[in-house]
Amino acid sequence: MQKVIDAHIHLSERGDDALLPFAKGNGLRYDLDELLAEMRGHHVERGLLLSPPIEDWAPLPNEEVIRLCGRSKGALLPIVTVEPSRKDVAAAVGLAEQNKRSVKGFKVRLGYHRAFAFDPVFSDVYDYAEAEGLPVLFHTGDTASTSGDLACSHPLTLDRLANKREELTIVICHFGNPWFEDVAELIYKHPKVYTDMSGLTTGGGGYARKFTEWLAKKVSEAVYYAGGAKKIVFGTDYPVTRYSDALALVQMLEVSETDRERILWRNAKELFGL
Ligand SMILES: [Zn+2]
Repeated sequence: MQKVIDAHIHLSERGDDALLPFAKGNGLRYDLDELLAEMRGHHVERGLLLSPPIEDWAPLPNEEVIRLCGRSKGALLPIVTVEPSRKDVAAAVGLAEQNKRSVKGFKVRLGYHRAFAFDPVFSDVYDYAEAEGLPVLFHTGDTASTSGDLACSHPLTLDRLANKREELTIVICHFGNPWFEDVAELIYKHPKVYTDMSGLTTGGGGYARKFTEWLAKKVSEAVYYAGGAKKIVFGTDYPVTRYSDALALVQMLEVSETDRERILWRNAKELFGL
């Protein structure tokens, strides 16, 4: 059976977690025991844990993400979420420094506040990430909240950052959904820009099958445009997307078996040093 690395997981075990409706729609309990059982059941060796939104779309404190990873016995590794304020940036860098052995990167939630990726407020975290070789993940595209700012979460806004910081490793989350072609260009153009396939489907609903076929076509075409799948990593965005659905989408891609294996684990292993 093919092994897997999941580069995008959320969890809080809190009653005010804003992803609970997604969990419910997917028939998931959304707790650590269930997550670890799902991972084992789908041959997911390791996963990166990111802060989910809680009340008023604020991120779960990073300390709680680190605690949950500690309880996972090595299955989950933390990504530190950074909000656009000097105080948050300093705290995130400090926490990454304190937890150097486990922290695997940073996450910026574009679209959840009025800040662009190239905003100077993030400079210190980018400097640290470059120096330590840690990737910075960016939420891009559609937002889970209906009041998200799509001009800020558009993936093309990362071009300016990548031009300015050639040493920074950037991961464009959710393939920029629905701006797949823009992401195809970004991963083709910039040597250190990657993308993840997380959170592309959720629940069922009208045209679910047709939509998944459309996604498989879009992602496959991005692979053809980029000339391969070296810059694409697998992710679920648990509890937004079920493991079975996220893995089915990878199976539907019309790419070589070598590229499918790259997407499922090999790229993430190299990118995050797992
Ligand atoms: Zn996510």
